[in-house]
Amino acid sequence: MALTDAFIGLGSNLENPGAQLARAIAELATLPNTELAAQSPFYRSKPLGPQDQPDFINGCAWLKTSLPPLELLDQLQAIELAHGRERLQHWGPRTLDLDLLLYGNRVIDHPRLHVPHPELPDRDFVLRPLLDLNPHLALPDGRYLSELLGRCPDNRLQRLEPARNPGSLPD
Ligand code: ATP
Ligand code: CA
Ligand code: CA
Repeated sequence: MALTDAFIGLGSNLENPGAQLARAIAELATLPNTELAAQSPFYRSKPLGPQDQPDFINGCAWLKTSLPPLELLDQLQAIELAHGRERLQHWGPRTLDLDLLLYGNRVIDHPRLHVPHPELPDRDFVLRPLLDLNPHLALPDGRYLSELLGRCPDNRLQRLEPARNPGSLPD
């Protein structure tokens, strides 16, 4: 079956966010009919909305999947729940947020799912890691993400060094 390129935005600001993201990416890699093509570096960003919460860690994953979009969303929400995600406050703190940013060149307008993710053009913490994965990415309407990044609000992104593999020893 044909595989579609799907890009997932990951975010966390509770309970060891870097580890939440790393574990979520490993879980995305095991989804049915899905391969993990690549993962972006992680970034630290200032929260949207309420400011009395910790900074976020963000990243993106590039999947190749034959799951239909709503089934992929179901899988993302199951992973969020397994990470103890609770919805207490809009844009409030969370252990894990998984957004379906892009699904091939599809435009989806469904009560549960809007693709491309409507806030994508205004979020540097999404555009930057997407461009790390593929600098030529464009929206279905033809706008290049690289152009959008130049115009979007500044969330004081800081790129994080890749975590060292704790199991590896220097040789
Ligand atoms: P934002 O959408 O601004 O990033 P959020 O991630 O905090 O906010 P959530 O509470 O995680 O919002 O999600 C609310 C609902 O958004 C979900 O239940 C889901 O059905 C819907 N939704 C619509 N489009 C998408 C998408 N592209 N990816 C993930 N969820 C989506
Ligand atoms: Ca989100
Ligand atoms: Ca979300």
